[in-house]
Amino acid sequence: MYPMAASGSAARALPSLLLAPSDHLGIDRDRIEETATALAASPDGIRTLFAAGCAPVWEAPCEEEADKGIPCPRHQPLWAAVQAGLGGCRLGPWLSGSRQPEVLPPPTPTPCPSYPPPTCS
Ligand SMILES: [Zn+2]
Repeated sequence: MYPMAASGSAARALPSLLLAPSDHLGIDRDRIEETATALAASPDGIRTLFAAGCAPVWEAPCEEEADKGIPCPRHQPLWAAVQAGLGGCRLGPWLSGSRQPEVLPPPTPTPCPSYPPPTCS
């Protein structure tokens, strides 16, 4: 049994459940977001696979209906998971020869991320 391979496969594939072709599957969006949050906070190898798996979702058209207060069903759950995962990505000071994650406060909520990201000019 290769538990890291299963986690890596889940990390790579799970974000695709937020794309339109998976809508008919009827998978609970809260469960997808909970799993995405756990994957985003996983060790580096899993987190890297999760980031790669997110790419097709970021490229999908945004479906946020800001005027109705309806968040984007594609990007919002993933963005929430990414922000939650950032909380444990910084290492604290050296203590007894090792460094433990330094949990950061949650970031300020942001609107649905745009794709492609804005460019500096
Ligand atoms: Zn969106």
